[in-house]
Amino acid sequence: MSAPTNQLLAAIKFASQKHVAQKRKDSRNTPYINHPIEVAELLSRVAGVDDVEILIAAVLHDTVEDTETTIEEISEIFGGAVASYVMECTDDKTLPKAERKQRQIETASKKSPQAKLIKLADKISNVKDLGESSPADWPIERQLDYLEWTRQVVHNLRGVNDALDQLYDSTLETA
Ligand code: NDP
Ligand code: ZN
Repeated sequence: MSAPTNQLLAAIKFASQKHVAQKRKDSRNTPYINHPIEVAELLSRVAGVDDVEILIAAVLHDTVEDTETTIEEISEIFGGAVASYVMECTDDKTLPKAERKQRQIETASKKSPQAKLIKLADKISNVKDLGESSPADWPIERQLDYLEWTRQVVHNLRGVNDALDQLYDSTLETA
């Protein structure tokens, strides 16, 4: 087995352990790890990404934000490039939620092309999930607000991969 394949599988194992107790906010009790795996799979299949550091960062993109994982831990195990992409995809949770959401809109255009790819696939996955199985306690207004927010973030991420841009548009249409 090649070294990149080993690293990617190690990242999937690492993320599955970190997210082990977490579920998605849907009515199906979906394990959280389904989402980061889908983000990496979209990047490979739809965007044609074969840079394993981007795929690994996609698998790890929610570990620092949503688990006890530190960026130092990721840097030590998976290297500085992966850690920097994960950091770019991590919200500052010390900020109030509204500010974090506004910051995502404002910083999207300034991110590296690698982080833009991951964030685009992240939004596609979340919009698809919302369409397929929305959080049980989200009224329609909150769902529409969420979709509109993703539209504003994605507007500022566009241009790194046409296939992802188009997939976001078609996923939003059917959500
Ligand atoms: P949240 O940030 O609470 O939840 C959305 C995030 O949850 C996603 O970005 C995704 O993040 C994760 N997620 C987990 N499961 C799913 C799923 N099945 N489908 C989609 N995403 C999932 O949402 P918001 O606070 O943004 O709420 C949406 C809108 O509703 C906002 O515009 C807000 O203003 C409004 N609103 C918010 C309220 C609140 O209490 N926050 C109350 C009323 C309205 P990840 O990729 O990290 O997993
Ligand atoms: Zn995510």
